[in-house]
Amino acid sequence: MSGLDLAAFVRDVPDFPTEGIVFKDVMPLIADPAAFRETIDRLAEWAGPRAPDIILGAEARGFIFGGALAYALGCGFVTARKPGKLPWETVEARYELEYGSDSLEIHVDSINAGARVIVLDDVLATGGTARAKIELVHGLGGVVVGALFVIELSFLNGRDRIPGTEVHALITYS
Ligand code: AMP
Repeated sequence: MSGLDLAAFVRDVPDFPTEGIVFKDVMPLIADPAAFRETIDRLAEWAGPRAPDIILGAEARGFIFGGALAYALGCGFVTARKPGKLPWETVEARYELEYGSDSLEIHVDSINAGARVIVLDDVLATGGTARAKIELVHGLGGVVVGALFVIELSFLNGRDRIPGTEVHALITYS
């Protein structure tokens, strides 16, 4: 790994999507070949020893990091999607966002009982999304072996919403 300052590739967008939110835009990070590779390498460094069977990522940015991470680790990837997007039978969990509320669905047969799962997202904000994903995994009998993020907004105390889960982020804003 090159020791790149990954935070230098994250753009702050004030008042997006609503006033008062400073949106952490990871598009420059994804667009830069060295920064994207290093991000995936660093995620894999933490995730690898936890021996996940599945990376569970929510749309849309969770798909980008999660798919690449699953490939790097040689494990599977499961998508958590907004209601009505998945074609097969689903289970649903509702969650609160920093700016609103929503729900996520996964396929009922996407996680086997006992499967080791890492939930992954670009940003840990209030922790509502991660909590919903953890609920979905537990509902199907899976084991959550970590919650992994590119960015943590630690001032929103998202970790408090997912007690009992080991949390790691590459970049922390406090
Ligand atoms: P939360 O459920 O509050 O932890 O929010 C996490 C989800 O919302 C992630 O999927 C993020 O992509 C998105 N999100 C929340 N707040 C921000 C923010 N300030 N900048 C970028 N993405 C955010």
